[in-house]
Amino acid sequence: MLLAASELYPRSEEHSMSATKRIPVAEGLFAETADGPRLLGSKCATCKTPYFPKSPVCHNPDCRETKMEDSTFGPRGTLWSYSIQYYPPPPPAKYDEPYTPYALGLIDLPEGLRVLARISTDDPEGLKVGAEVELVLERLSGDGDGNEVIIWMFR
Ligand SMILES: [Zn+2]
Repeated sequence: MLLAASELYPRSEEHSMSATKRIPVAEGLFAETADGPRLLGSKCATCKTPYFPKSPVCHNPDCRETKMEDSTFGPRGTLWSYSIQYYPPPPPAKYDEPYTPYALGLIDLPEGLRVLARISTDDPEGLKVGAEVELVLERLSGDGDGNEVIIWMFR
């Protein structure tokens, strides 16, 4: 069963007013499922080409269909390449102060696509191309109101 991010991170006031909420960086990109975190994408019903984020149409030049199906991806992947973001990215990128360099990776998923994601590690310089990685939903930054902005990463 898939939970929408709004169900996963309800904006309820049941807890104290100072309780930290986990707010997805954007709706419709990832979800917590009974089997763990998954990316929310789509797949062409005809040629099976996978897309993340979801695509309303198939971009395969050999495919003339536009019937798309929802699909989930993850949690396992392989680090295909990465680069380290040594300086703060320009707005509207979110990050906590003081800025800490992080790795941005390209992850090969067994479902047949390559996705861009931050890599969750305390040692970006120690990453190894070809490493097995797993999808996680982690803090990207604060939102300025005491809440956590959550994004998909691999570690
Ligand atoms: Zn197609």
